[in-house]
Amino acid sequence: MTLIDVAIIGGGASGTTTAFHLASNSKKVCILEKNIFSSERICGGGMSAAVQNWFPFKLLPIVDEVITNVEFSWCNTDKVVAELSGSSPFWIVKREKLDSFLLDQALNSGCNLLTTFKVVDIKKKSNVWHITALDGRQIEARAVVIADGSQSPWPKTFNLGPTQQKFASTFSGRIKRRGNLRNETARFEFGLVKNGFAWAFPLDNEVNIGMGTFLDNKNSLPVNEILKSFLPDLCFDPSEVIGHEKKLRIWNGHCKLNGEGILLVGDAASLCDPFLAEGLRPALMSGFEAAKSLIYWLDGEVNCLDAYTNTMQINWGNSMAWGKRISQVFYRFPKVGYQLGVKRPTAPKRIAQILSGEMSYEDIAKRVIKRLLFQN
Ligand SMILES: Cc1cc2nc3c(=O)[nH]c(=O)nc-3n(C[C@H](O)[C@H](O)[C@H](O)COP(=O)(O)OP(=O)(O)OC[C@H]3O[C@@H](n4cnc5c(N)ncnc54)[C@H](O)[C@@H]3O)c2cc1C
Repeated sequence: MTLIDVAIIGGGASGTTTAFHLASNSKKVCILEKNIFSSERICGGGMSAAVQNWFPFKLLPIVDEVITNVEFSWCNTDKVVAELSGSSPFWIVKREKLDSFLLDQALNSGCNLLTTFKVVDIKKKSNVWHITALDGRQIEARAVVIADGSQSPWPKTFNLGPTQQKFASTFSGRIKRRGNLRNETARFEFGLVKNGFAWAFPLDNEVNIGMGTFLDNKNSLPVNEILKSFLPDLCFDPSEVIGHEKKLRIWNGHCKLNGEGILLVGDAASLCDPFLAEGLRPALMSGFEAAKSLIYWLDGEVNCLDAYTNTMQINWGNSMAWGKRISQVFYRFPKVGYQLGVKRPTAPKRIAQILSGEMSYEDIAKRVIKRLLFQN
């Protein structure tokens, strides 16, 4: 069996990004994916245009809609609209289109792909990782990247990630027409979902409808009840939605994302924003940063995988620590949160700036603290 440089478990957004950057730096990489590609993915597909920073090729051609307005509501009333201007707009993509585009880029750069390879065992013997599939196939690699999403068992196995994993309950589905959702407009509804929000994102001739609850994930979401209240306002009937529920692993504290020759990326690394469920930007960021550290490590710089954990903490975790605090206060008292948070004259713009990647939760928290100190 030939020894490859890096085996990547999972061919989603984070795995394909890692694979592309490693393969385009001449590393021998293989993506191990349990499915065959191109099926619809459970995701809203909203992401900041700032993700373009991590790729040398243009992503805009695969974007379904560039969002210029974000509309917020409380139980379909009390609406506020924020205009999105600035250098990094908010994009809506079909997830299967994004993932297969990134996969093609990785394959064109020399990465290999094994599909129907459901990883059931990962062991390290004499500095070589042995990865085994359900059907008995085996791969040997110098390093392994865990990119298999929210249900990944491997962080616990290898003592990585947060000590306590936290999950949001989510649902996402599609409707094959646009209803009355205005062009270039994303809708966020805060009053109908307990401890969370619902959304409507425009796609090419379709709309993505979804919802997530962030504090209490023990009970399943009352999806039909929420759809019944939310969809008529968009001129849809609940029977039109075809969708699925999913438990989404969210950020829950600073933690180690690497061991010796092993790194966690994307949802497997618990990077998803605990306030707005933004997981694509950190998935792509972590794929880029993981590859950067691995390239040095494979070339003999033995300690540089720790730099990956540190960079992700600085560039993402510090903002998420504030996102978690904001989420806990906002979703516990959402009506007050909506009135004081979203309905403040500058607030919709700030949320829009978070979505577009122009501001972090940390920037916003620092502004609020400064304002309070100044007032006193
Ligand atoms: C309902 C919902 C809506 C969302 N909306 C948004 C949004 O609008 N914007 C946003 O930024 N984020 C959103 N997110 C979050 C976003 O979808 C995730 O953060 C993102 O998918 C993470 O990518 P990933 O590559 O880490 O994991 P995934 O996309 O989950 O990819 C994991 C891959 O690993 C494969 N795999 C799993 N187990 C194995 C195994 N044992 N062996 C081999 N392969 C395996 C899977 O088949 C899959 O291809 C949403 C999430 C949900 C659930």
